[in-house]
Amino acid sequence: MAERLNVLGVGVSAINMATALATIEGWIASRKRHYVCVTGVHGVMESRRDPELRHIHNSAGMVTPDGMPLVWLLWASGHRSVDRVYGPDLMLAVLERSVERGCRHFLYGASEATLARLQANLHARFPGLDIAGTYSPPFRPLTVDEDAAVVEMINAARPDVVWVGLSTPKQERWMAAHRDCLEAPVLVGVGAAFDFHAGVVRQAPRFIQRSGFEWLFRLTMEPRRLWRRYLRNNPAFLVCLAGQKLGFRRYSLEFGDQARGRVWQVVEPAGSSGVTDHRDPMPIGLRSEAASKRKERSILGDDELVVVTGAGGFIGAHLVADLLRRGHQRVRAVDIKPLYEWFQLFPGIDNRRCDLRGRDACYAVTDGAAWVYNLAADMGGMGFIETHKAACMQSVLINTHLLLAARDCGVRRFFYASSACVYAADKQTSPDILPLKEGDAYPAMPEDGYGWEKLFSERMCRHFREDCRLATRLARYHNVYGPHGTFAGGREKAPAAICRKVIQAKLSGEPEIEIWGDGEQTRSFMFIDDCVEGTQRIMHSHVEEPLNLGSDRPVTINQLVDIVEAIAGVMLRRHYLVDAPKGVRGRNSDNTLIRQRLGWAPSISLEEGLEKTYRWIYDQMTGIEADQSAVVSL
Ligand code: NAD
Repeated sequence: MAERLNVLGVGVSAINMATALATIEGWIASRKRHYVCVTGVHGVMESRRDPELRHIHNSAGMVTPDGMPLVWLLWASGHRSVDRVYGPDLMLAVLERSVERGCRHFLYGASEATLARLQANLHARFPGLDIAGTYSPPFRPLTVDEDAAVVEMINAARPDVVWVGLSTPKQERWMAAHRDCLEAPVLVGVGAAFDFHAGVVRQAPRFIQRSGFEWLFRLTMEPRRLWRRYLRNNPAFLVCLAGQKLGFRRYSLEFGDQARGRVWQVVEPAGSSGVTDHRDPMPIGLRSEAASKRKERSILGDDELVVVTGAGGFIGAHLVADLLRRGHQRVRAVDIKPLYEWFQLFPGIDNRRCDLRGRDACYAVTDGAAWVYNLAADMGGMGFIETHKAACMQSVLINTHLLLAARDCGVRRFFYASSACVYAADKQTSPDILPLKEGDAYPAMPEDGYGWEKLFSERMCRHFREDCRLATRLARYHNVYGPHGTFAGGREKAPAAICRKVIQAKLSGEPEIEIWGDGEQTRSFMFIDDCVEGTQRIMHSHVEEPLNLGSDRPVTINQLVDIVEAIAGVMLRRHYLVDAPKGVRGRNSDNTLIRQRLGWAPSISLEEGLEKTYRWIYDQMTGIEADQSAVVSL
């Protein structure tokens, strides 16, 4: 990989046209998957404002200096061989050389009319050019199913390079989101190149392109679209750059996986090795075959088998209900508990009791599955996880064996339920703490026991994705509550425990309640319906990194008690047990990333969710108190 220069936190590659071409051709030959960001001042400034976009740039295989200011900066830093790698020129150069090499191209972006003109012009210019397909996306977000169909169409066309002609930052986001599911080794975002080569928009003459004033030319061509961009970005760029150069501002360069040299790996062809790995039940050749048969599709067919582990538990059971509501006919629900202890039991599906810490059990339950939702874990509320660390950590056996089984049985998508307990304790030391961003999990110092196991298993998912091409999706749940969950016995969480205690006080006529800690520790609480909806959205998305899934409304435990008291219509005397397990001092979810990536975040109010939870627990305590399970017919 070429060296990178830190320009306001964006690593710009020290390259010229020749090295850029050689790099792209190398990726095509080796089938290594990368994407290329063609970036000028506009891209750098957008990335400065948006950490997600910055991460996308820094995860790219190459960030080309597409603008003289970036070239000048690279020259000034000693990279004298660097030259401008202008998107439209890069496109022509790659296309020209690919004719004799027999490479295939796909064009994604622009209007149908522009694409038709672009194709005609390119064919006229490069006879024999292989354009395997084109697609003009509508001016609205694609639905999950539409997007999956487009991915399938592009993969079916078998291009070597997908050219993406959307504007910045749309095209960068599109490339990052689709990198894992597209089989083409190279994606390049070239923006206006489509319009230029189609002859729809005039390019600046060469001398202007080299002068550093191309922006002025483009402004005169498209003033209404571009004036705000240049007026805002150019002066701000100079000010920020001066700050960086003079040392007033520091911009760290956080590289993503690709820039560090790690790439999405391609599985060796089936049968390449006759060696048997004695630790695994399937020979390596067959394993490769299973993986290579795996097609990354976002659609789960109604008749395909979906497995939910931990289905006898709280969230797992709600998820099974949701899958059945969505019309999935083949659901396998798995849990270690006897069926009569399951919170919800759905007749007519494949309900299985087994211990998923065992490897054979994991292979048996994933056999034939298309998607797996892994929610099985030995866990509970603070009272449980602070006193059962060894038990919590053994869930790593469930996750390890399920991932191996999913890899070998050709599972297409694997969901892992992680937790806010992965976050470093030193970021949660006061009640009014800043909401936790996904990046705050590192440097790692998670909750002892349970949190370490969750973080380790997150990393395992990531490496199975990178090394074995198993598509994994991860949610970090923040305190989920709702009906059909534990509310007594030691594993219950704060909302259910407080509902139970308030109900007990109301029924007994003893107007008192015990509260663990001083009641001023803060948390955010997500209602189960939001949790299920978010889980499905994450599972159906192209987002591969862990996403927070939680409410971003922090409340103290005292405020939680206030709400439950109001629902119950009582006021209780509060006794604070300051030595009881209480976890971190403050925790809240930062939902910026999930909003950016999915356009959605949990929204059900605590009052509404607690009302439903309280009513259900009340019914359990006054009616079928001895039996928490329920057989449900949908
Ligand atoms: P839960 O305890 O109600 O459900 C987990 C289920 O896993 C239980 O029914 C349990 O019997 C089952 N299980 C445990 N060990 C097993 C094994 N060896 N083999 C098969 N099944 C086994 O918990 P939940 O609240 O539904 O949580 C589901 C997932 O979400 C868990 O992975 C949990 O760590 C995670 N999570 C939950 C919350 C929350 O607030 N509820 C927060 C963060 C993360």
